[in-house]
Amino acid sequence: MRVLTLGLLLLVGLAAAPAARAWDDEGHRIVALIAEHYLRPSVRERVQVLLEADHSGLTSDTSMASEATWADHYRDSDRDAGPGAAHGPRYEQTWRWHFVDLELSRPDLTQACYGRPALPPATPASQGPARDCIVDKIEQFQAELANPATPAPERLLALQFLLHFIGDLHQPLHAADDHDAGGNRVRVVAAGRRPGSLHRYWDGEFVDDLGPDAPRIATRLIAQISDGDRAAWMRGGIEDWAMESFAVAQAVAYGTLPPPSSHGEHRLSDDYIQLADGAVATQLSRAGVRLALVLNRALR
Ligand SMILES: [Zn+2]
Repeated sequence: MRVLTLGLLLLVGLAAAPAARAWDDEGHRIVALIAEHYLRPSVRERVQVLLEADHSGLTSDTSMASEATWADHYRDSDRDAGPGAAHGPRYEQTWRWHFVDLELSRPDLTQACYGRPALPPATPASQGPARDCIVDKIEQFQAELANPATPAPERLLALQFLLHFIGDLHQPLHAADDHDAGGNRVRVVAAGRRPGSLHRYWDGEFVDDLGPDAPRIATRLIAQISDGDRAAWMRGGIEDWAMESFAVAQAVAYGTLPPPSSHGEHRLSDDYIQLADGAVATQLSRAGVRLALVLNRALR
């Protein structure tokens, strides 16, 4: 009986575990907090006014940090809501927008972006084709946010998706794939940690290594960002940032991955974890600086 109860608890626990997200909520909060620091005061005010119109109840409050998690919560709000085992329309329409699966062996942005479909005429970006990638979606939502003619409800959605997608773009395993669903099918273990997928480790484990408190981590990372870093990171555009994130995946996430054991698991060394923690800190910092850049430009 006890074993059965434990088994059930484990099942329930697994079912309630958050779905794979590029950066867990914690990572997205850190990105938004860094961005907030670099927003012009007038832009910060406009962002807050826009976000206060969110009555979806999908975030704990309407702060920028909480709203940066909205797109994952929106997607997962009907993940299992379809008939039978099917997904609901929110999930079906938006799940591919969170990543760009650039193949390690042959990165091809057009292919990874489903041929880069243009938005059909008079179609808001939030209603765009389900088969599209994060690079295109950021560009579309950026244009909507900058356009004063965009209706208010769509403007809010554009902002919510941008707050989240600039973060996602910087999770290296949301910009790279080795025919393994961005590392979701790669099993890893490390001393003192629960076994999981490589993707899961990059979403959460390495972010957790930075500390337990998002505001404190953000403050610490901001203190380490030099003027030279900012100037360098503000160069280029969305595609460049995607390729840079891909390069981090290539060099670190996959590049330093030890070979699998006979059970097919990769045991991560302390060296791997140290490299990954550093790469995650840099990627979160870059994402924060660039999110600020995107918002400062769109809401000037
Ligand atoms: Zn996401």
